[in-house]
Amino acid sequence: MIKLFNTLSKKVEVFKPIDDVVKIYCCGVTVYDLCHLGHARSYIAWDVLRRFLIYSDFKVKYVQNFTDIDDKILKRAKEENSSMKEVSEKNIIEFHKDMDSLGIMRPDSMPRATNHICNICSFITILEDKGYAYSRDGDVYYSVFKNKNYGKLSNQNIQEQNINQQGRMANEENSKKLNPQDFALWKKAKDDEPFFDSPWGKGRPGWHIECSAMVKDELGDTIDIHLGGSDLIFPHHENEIAQSEAANGKKLANYWLHNGMVNVNGQKMSKSLKNFKTIRELIKSGISPMTLRYFVMTVNYRKPLDFTEEALRSASEAWKNINVALSFLELTKDAFKSIDKNESIENEYKEKICFELSQKKLKFSEALGNDLNTAGAIAIIYDLAKPLKNFSNQFQRVEGFKIDINEKFFLLENFKTLEELTEVLGLKKEVLVKESKIKEEEISILINERLKAKKEKNYTKADEIRNLLKEKGIELIDQSKEITTWIRV
Ligand SMILES: [Zn+2]
Repeated sequence: MIKLFNTLSKKVEVFKPIDDVVKIYCCGVTVYDLCHLGHARSYIAWDVLRRFLIYSDFKVKYVQNFTDIDDKILKRAKEENSSMKEVSEKNIIEFHKDMDSLGIMRPDSMPRATNHICNICSFITILEDKGYAYSRDGDVYYSVFKNKNYGKLSNQNIQEQNINQQGRMANEENSKKLNPQDFALWKKAKDDEPFFDSPWGKGRPGWHIECSAMVKDELGDTIDIHLGGSDLIFPHHENEIAQSEAANGKKLANYWLHNGMVNVNGQKMSKSLKNFKTIRELIKSGISPMTLRYFVMTVNYRKPLDFTEEALRSASEAWKNINVALSFLELTKDAFKSIDKNESIENEYKEKICFELSQKKLKFSEALGNDLNTAGAIAIIYDLAKPLKNFSNQFQRVEGFKIDINEKFFLLENFKTLEELTEVLGLKKEVLVKESKIKEEEISILINERLKAKKEKNYTKADEIRNLLKEKGIELIDQSKEITTWIRV
């Protein structure tokens, strides 16, 4: 049983698909820049959902769009002295690089808004014919007052909003609208902007209508799950519902799932606060992609994710342990790759181990089935990784290590289960960084020698010692003239 928190009902509900293929739509990125940690958080969460549905024997069709026409793209094109298409193409390539590095499965389909202009125009025409849309001087607007259900996803009271916003009617765009809440379905082209032909003249689509048209074209009138960040609930998803349900006369999505935002050291991550981290920057700074993936999964997808050095460090340590366990076969030099046919394992023991592991798999599925409790699923992974990691360490330390056949069976079965379950979370083995063999006492002696050399103004020797330690994976940090600390890198 899979239970998911549905923003529409504000309740945790048992997931029941419409038919044998689960239809999922996820709002994609506006391709004007590199992706940041917020995108990583969102797409990792949905990747786990998709992988878990597949693991639970569902067939899934997963669609995620690219918004490739938008004010931000046009602004970027101007800044870079290039075209809207060039900016979009470049950022779509970069998007794939980032998502691939994080082990996020590529969607089954990735429609682009500019390839759906015809569908978008037909969609707007239906809304016009049904009386939900009106055109004004080349613009087309959606009339929210025509829709009694408007506000059902975000709990907005449109009447109250209208009173609050009366004062804002003064601006030029609003003066064309019947009501300030009405939103643009089609925007008349400005002088130097790229445009598309339409029944209302040259222009381009509004952002919300793109998704409504692409959902309909790719997946049909009603889909199972609609995904996005919680910042999209209003107005984007509210408007998608208003457009689609008015045009199709059917419910747009049965389940609406939204992920929480990312905070950096207690503050909301934003460009204006300059605490903005792109996925690229984070990986370049030495955080491995799987550390990032693991870190994101330590917190429930609906809660805010606090990005702090400390949280990242502890995620890194924990992931290292799992990674060592995933490298079990290499670390034990394949000595335990398989069980020799001549080696006999006690049946009772065999059954006991298989039962224990099947219980762990069950608990793992229960955790993810409980509104994607990734932290709970990770706890099971950790449990499986522990004996493998401990054994690998022991094996490496003791020459000619002998192992009993039952333990060998236990470790191999544990390893198989670990591989199976980490795959569901999208965690993949990374190349192990060799731990520095140098002992702490040796480091202290060398640091003292270097301090002495510096006092004697023998900087060549001081640099030699620094470089020697660097080769052994030790980075020195000079706190003051007398105090030097170090870290393993
Ligand atoms: Zn959307």
